Amino acid sequence: TIVVENLSKQFGNFKAVDQVSLEIKPGKLVALLGASGSGKSTLLRLVAGLEQADAGRILIAGQDVTFKSVQDRGIGFVFQHYALFKHLTVRENIAFGLELQNLQQGRKKGRSKAKVEELLDLIQLQGLGNRYPSQLSGGQRQRVALARALAIEPSILLLDEPFGALDAKVRKDLRGWLHRLHTEVNVTTILVTHDQEEAMELADEIVVMNNGKVEQVGSPTEIYDQPASAFVMSFIGPVN
Ligand code: ATP
Ligand code: MG
Repeated sequence: TIVVENLSKQFGNFKAVDQVSLEIKPGKLVALLGASGSGKSTLLRLVAGLEQADAGRILIAGQDVTFKSVQDRGIGFVFQHYALFKHLTVRENIAFGLELQNLQQGRKKGRSKAKVEELLDLIQLQGLGNRYPSQLSGGQRQRVALARALAIEPSILLLDEPFGALDAKVRKDLRGWLHRLHTEVNVTTILVTHDQEEAMELADEIVVMNNGKVEQVGSPTEIYDQPASAFVMSFIGPVN
């Protein structure tokens, strides 16, 4: 379980995240949904440890990690602009985090190999393991990015608009992929998106954010059928 308690982050006088409290159960996929500037990425970065909170606490599996480093939180990331390494093949990209862990923990290399093949299978790019990112489609690249994030067997997967830069058709396709990966790996996931359709389709729970605050938390049906405020209603709008 991830517990966020009264978390706040200010930039100058501006409250980017304003007393946010949340609880995310193990294995769930939670979508942070909100307009540009509503504080979604900042909240995600606070959970990741890439940003220090001004106030509040973050607990992961009962442990207070508010002041822990990124490495000690067991988190995998995929960001929209967190591109793959151009000079590394698909296999090497996926293995990157694992090799780093091996180095840090003084383990042998053997472990990575099997894991990389398993992940290539999972994203069904077995035949493309030796290609470079420039030889892949945008959708294939993001599948590799997901595999790379999952390689270290993170306890939490944080996705910040992972499909943001892609066209509508590829986004739809990747949604299916993410759903499949999440069912198979079942890792607790926070997905930042401003695409309400994406949130509706993928999330167990949606957190609607506005001006750094949580407007509503609920299942997709709850958010859609019982919007808690005029803001949520206008933001969700009709789903086609
Ligand atoms: P988007 O959908 O556009 O990615 P977001 O919901 O992710 O938006 P954030 O990136 O969390 O929004 O930003 C929230 C607010 O905090 C914005 O007004 C932004 O300008 C501000 N902000 C974010 N990071 C910083 C920073 N490092 N310094 C100053 N202001 C920042
Ligand atoms: Mg953002």
